[in-house]
Amino acid sequence: MGAYSANYPVCDEERMKQRHLKVGNKYYSHKSVIRLIDRYSEISQDPEEIIRSLVQDKLNVARQSRHFRWNGPPFNPEVLASILGIWCEESVELTHSEDAELHPAENGRVVIRYNPDKPKTRQKFSIAHEIVHTFFPGYQDECHARHQSGKFDPENEVEFLCDLGASEIVMPTPEFDSDVKSMGVSLKSLQKLSKLYEVSLEATAIRMIKTDFHPCALIVLDYSHKPAEKEEIETSKYQQSLFREDPWVPPPMRLRVQYFVRGRHFSTYIPKHKSIEESSPLYEVSVTGKPFQGDTVLNLTKTPLNTYVEAMALPKTHNTDLDSRVIAILFHTRKNS
Ligand SMILES: [Zn+2]
Repeated sequence: MGAYSANYPVCDEERMKQRHLKVGNKYYSHKSVIRLIDRYSEISQDPEEIIRSLVQDKLNVARQSRHFRWNGPPFNPEVLASILGIWCEESVELTHSEDAELHPAENGRVVIRYNPDKPKTRQKFSIAHEIVHTFFPGYQDECHARHQSGKFDPENEVEFLCDLGASEIVMPTPEFDSDVKSMGVSLKSLQKLSKLYEVSLEATAIRMIKTDFHPCALIVLDYSHKPAEKEEIETSKYQQSLFREDPWVPPPMRLRVQYFVRGRHFSTYIPKHKSIEESSPLYEVSVTGKPFQGDTVLNLTKTPLNTYVEAMALPKTHNTDLDSRVIAILFHTRKNS
């Protein structure tokens, strides 16, 4: 989301000179992230902490504003944008994103143009995401050349950090954390919080897991091919176009881990793309659309994981006859703790 379209400097040379910084288990190399760390090194060396801190500072300013009412839940990022002197306007002619973009406006200001045809929750999150782009030093000169798909794309570092900051804007720490403390981590509280804060179930779930109040994790499952199969499909398309062989039938998509997010106290790591067995209650959720709550064994890691799961179906993202996506909150059972 959110290409800044004002300037496109030649950036290949810049990229050659890039520094790499290791923070925890993550490497950062995008020049915007490196500039952010250099500029705010007194806050932290960790860009995630820097972004959270910058958002919290802006929200403190917003809370004290006499002219604007920053309150919630739900919190309206357009109010924060106004306080920061950023204009927001609807636009159905976005050129770089389906959701929202930053553009230069008069007097050195910026305007966030957002797609009014997207769901309200998505519009809000997109506006918040674009606000966070403006926290990066030199964001006006940002280069948005895309790297080849399938390879590590440093651009994602910025997008990830903007999503992290957006999540803090629409679900600010004191209010959201105190709600999670009083409601607990469950599917029921996830649904309540998502409605209350007007944020998608997935963004709410990630934020809830990251409060770290309980040793729990989140997996989202979707139908897809594994990376090797995707490559095979691409190669066969190419070969068919060259040699016009008999049509090759690709393998069926399977219900796989689309992404996994864990709290600091959840020790197991579940890799992406792992497929779930058809005997699993999570597969059942996908097929029937009915939620599941209970103990189960997940065979997604080397050692089977005994876990208590709360799972529900999510709307499909692709227009196919495949079954629903699934969101599941995992808790360590006594066997694992
Ligand atoms: Zn973005």
